[in-house]
Amino acid sequence: MEREHLIKPLLNYRYPTVQYGKGSYLYDENGKAYLDASSGAVTAGIGHGTAEVIEAMHEQAQKVSFVYRSQFTSEPAERLAKKLSDLAPGGGYWSFFVNSGSEATETAMKIAIQHWQEKGQSSKYKVLSRRVSYHGITLGALSMSGHVLRRRRFIPLLEEFPLVAPPYCYRCPMGKTPSECGTACADDLESAVKRIGAEHIAAFIAEPVIGAAGGAIVPPEGYYRKIKEICERYEILFIADEVMTGIGRTGAMFGMEHWGVEPDLIALGKGMSAGYTPMAATLVKDHVMEPILHGSKVVMAGHTYSANPQSAAVSLAVLEYIEKNGLVQAAEEKGRELLSRLMELAGRYAIIGDVRGKGLLLAVEFVADRGSKEPFPASLGLTARVTDKAFEKGLLLYPAAGGVDGAGDAVIVAPPFIISEEEMDELVRMFDETMVEVMREV
Ligand code: PLP
Repeated sequence: MEREHLIKPLLNYRYPTVQYGKGSYLYDENGKAYLDASSGAVTAGIGHGTAEVIEAMHEQAQKVSFVYRSQFTSEPAERLAKKLSDLAPGGGYWSFFVNSGSEATETAMKIAIQHWQEKGQSSKYKVLSRRVSYHGITLGALSMSGHVLRRRRFIPLLEEFPLVAPPYCYRCPMGKTPSECGTACADDLESAVKRIGAEHIAAFIAEPVIGAAGGAIVPPEGYYRKIKEICERYEILFIADEVMTGIGRTGAMFGMEHWGVEPDLIALGKGMSAGYTPMAATLVKDHVMEPILHGSKVVMAGHTYSANPQSAAVSLAVLEYIEKNGLVQAAEEKGRELLSRLMELAGRYAIIGDVRGKGLLLAVEFVADRGSKEPFPASLGLTARVTDKAFEKGLLLYPAAGGVDGAGDAVIVAPPFIISEEEMDELVRMFDETMVEVMREV
């Protein structure tokens, strides 16, 4: 075998080479079609090969692709910042553009810390987060992440494991049921604040709907209003990590809209450019920026490619495409239909414990025993079995990692918002066939 040079996720596996993508499908070098039912890593929200976005990319490249943000601003970056502020809950946001979701959450962490420093409260530097969470792979972002597998090798470099209980109703970490819980998982934030001391806490970060670490986990009603109220009471900034949920994925432009909460900071990525170019952002409410604007006047963050005009032009084109084609509404409607079809299918397979999600961010959780909700042993690698079998059939699913609070195996189903009725039929049919084969092995 010829030696390789590209480091891929699994070093002992031969990945197919993609040739092109069109709409909801990707095609490999042998012409095999893959229905992108996960939008890659919940990213390609508008599907592949969208002519309007490619044209915008081309047009901007003919003007200028790169400027350094310390030397120039650009029209696309200015317009995108304004657009995001207009779209985000309650408006009044500044944007700091970065290149990945990890950079977006880490920049949010840094701006929150700087906010308190500029107000003369330097002891407020900790960022609280929840178990069963993922905020990114860089060290600051990983510190905030309750994703056991991704943290394991770097523990000495990280803050202590995230403390706060996740709003994971299927496996309630507080040992309650949704009808009588009184959102005790939100109260757990207050307990953590009291233990640590609000004078040491800069911010609390949470994914509106938990993605990679648990699989489309939706909090109970009232959860986020209580979280925001606790944050305000103890003078803690609330960071919504909307890297996965933002830009229409949950059937609202921002996930937090479902709960009527205006975050102090928002991290965006993935769907913001729908994968057409690396682009992410940290949105910062006016009141968070204020002490910095009147203080040092410099946000201590940034990357060479920050506010890249090429990426900003692409992101603007993606937002325009979403608005013009009513794709947020489409995500809501198609999500509702797909959720009910997956639930229907779940009834036939004893190993499906839960089907959940919001909009087109859905997940199926597997259990060894439905009654006790006992997960499969990790050694069985059930999630990988499901995603591998689906892949063979030409169905792309996204594996979610379990591992804490008893979380088991789950796959995320998150197709592009442009998925057609026939493609949805195909998705459900291939998922069904995948389950038949998996059932034979467990
Ligand atoms: N935050 C959330 C909620 C995510 O789902 C992810 C990626 O899966 C990240 C942050 C990190 O984003 P990236 O992989 O672009 O660095």
